[in-house]
Amino acid sequence: EVGTSILTNRYDNKGTAFTAEERQALAIRGRLPPRVETLDEQVARCLDQLRSFDKPINKYQFLATLHTANTTLYYALILASVEDSLPIIYTPTVGEACQKFGNIFFRERGMYIHSQYKGMIHELLEESCYKDVDVIVITDGSRILGLGDLGANGMGISIGKCSLYVVGGGVHPKRILPVCLDAGTNNESLRNSLHYLGTRTERLPEEEFYGILDEFMDAVKRVWPGAVVQFEDFSNNHCFDMLTRYQEKYRCFNDDIQGTGAVVSAGFLNAVRVTGKPVTDHKIVVFGAGSAAVGVALAIADLAVRLSDGKITKEEVIKTFYLVDTKGLVTNTRGDKLAAHKIALARTDIAAEDNAKFTTLEDVVKNIKPTALLGLGGVGPVFTEDIIRFVSSYCERPIIFPLSNPSSKSEVIPSDAYLWSNGKAIIASGSPFAGIEVNGTFCKPSQGNNMYIFPGIGMGCALAKPTYIPDSVIVTASARLYDLLTPEMLAAGALYPSITEIREISSHIATAVIMESQRLGLTTVELPKEYDALLAVVKESMWQAEYPNKQ
Ligand code: NAP
Ligand code: MN
Repeated sequence: EVGTSILTNRYDNKGTAFTAEERQALAIRGRLPPRVETLDEQVARCLDQLRSFDKPINKYQFLATLHTANTTLYYALILASVEDSLPIIYTPTVGEACQKFGNIFFRERGMYIHSQYKGMIHELLEESCYKDVDVIVITDGSRILGLGDLGANGMGISIGKCSLYVVGGGVHPKRILPVCLDAGTNNESLRNSLHYLGTRTERLPEEEFYGILDEFMDAVKRVWPGAVVQFEDFSNNHCFDMLTRYQEKYRCFNDDIQGTGAVVSAGFLNAVRVTGKPVTDHKIVVFGAGSAAVGVALAIADLAVRLSDGKITKEEVIKTFYLVDTKGLVTNTRGDKLAAHKIALARTDIAAEDNAKFTTLEDVVKNIKPTALLGLGGVGPVFTEDIIRFVSSYCERPIIFPLSNPSSKSEVIPSDAYLWSNGKAIIASGSPFAGIEVNGTFCKPSQGNNMYIFPGIGMGCALAKPTYIPDSVIVTASARLYDLLTPEMLAAGALYPSITEIREISSHIATAVIMESQRLGLTTVELPKEYDALLAVVKESMWQAEYPNKQ
């Protein structure tokens, strides 16, 4: 590519890093300021720009614009400032970016699929600029973080997750594909808002929804047979059914159910280690009974069984859970027809007339006396001072996980929970939060970030191309994350390794994912069978944020 076009090609552009020779060869000598910068100098300059914005949403806009101008620099900047930039490109700011997607839209990224293209999706994928795709993240925007139905604005979440595949998993930036399945939106105010860029119709009826999704999955398999599809933020009337429908037929997984489950269960069982009591001695109240809550509870059970080498059963762990939804404690006797995904976790030991004692979270906590609280309800501060003080009154080290995103939806602000529990709470949150000093000890919550798992799964699948991703591969990834937390880290109060080590972590997750897929005979690419040799291959294959000639 020569001339101006290379400057507008986000993947090949180097901006001020083009050398004098390159500028001459490319016929762009007069198009750039005279000084030639190294990538490191560009990163330092852009980091100063990033930090000059006060509002997170403006930082987001700056980074999104940088991506369209120079993708290598975008990733180099993020990798150099992970703790600054992750909360911008991912939760919490990505939530605000989705809410304002049409208002801040600048240039296209990824692909939009909608019903107008029914019967043509294969063609659409073929004609796109994407040649080899390793990872696709698709959402229909029906339940974005804890923010509800955001329709086509949900594209922001696919974009954010795709960026994390590059940052965390070293997937090549040209081989990730964010997809928005625009199936309409039932968010009327959004449909009527001035700058909304999606189709202004109500959500498609079931048959049409699955018609277009079936067509998409089939087209992906034909056009990019090596790709893994991540389902993201589909509302719970679809996400479980989608997994049943597609899991064994295609290389796919659902990050809200399986990724969250794998990450939270690893952190949770490490928290259980801190309490010194076996998981089966705990009573775990879960606020919320949606996709994330059910996914997490079942994942904790699966991982506990795996880690016990079969000494405890899944049923024993499931008995420790008390799920709470909008009607109160989820039981099989409360007289409503339970949604299918709640049935496995419904209490079976509550007499019909006793359900009246369990209609609110407060009631459930007072009557059950839990040792752990998991928040996955998506409605904001419900773990009140009363609740935290009460739980801390009989429980030496209460486990408190406010996991709802973004920060405004968190069940409790971790620093409050530390104060109210006198520094005794063991906390992991969904979004990043600051720590606080209590009685001379600095307490900082860990972040139960899905990023610990999904980039490694994607990376592992991109390399080994298993025919599909069975649950046991996800449990293996989770067990690997659990083991990556060293006793020293645990003693220092962490439940997860530092997110700044994300590439190292992902390489181990990917290795574990591949080995389990090999054991099950699912891989279609020949790779080493021995851990260290495989780990070396994984690390070697990771894309580095550098210009081709390292300039
Ligand atoms: P969802 O499927 O819509 O489920 C929400 C659940 O919360 C439902 O069971 C709902 O009850 C219950 N609920 C809502 N309001 C309630 C209230 N006032 N009182 C009692 N129960 C209430 O959503 P989801 O996919 O599970 O996600 C939930 C939250 O988890 C979101 O905020 C999301 O950001 C978070 N999440 C975090 C992570 C992470 O940290 N790694 C990952 C994924 C999701 P009904 O069933 O009765 O409607
Ligand atoms: Mn999600």
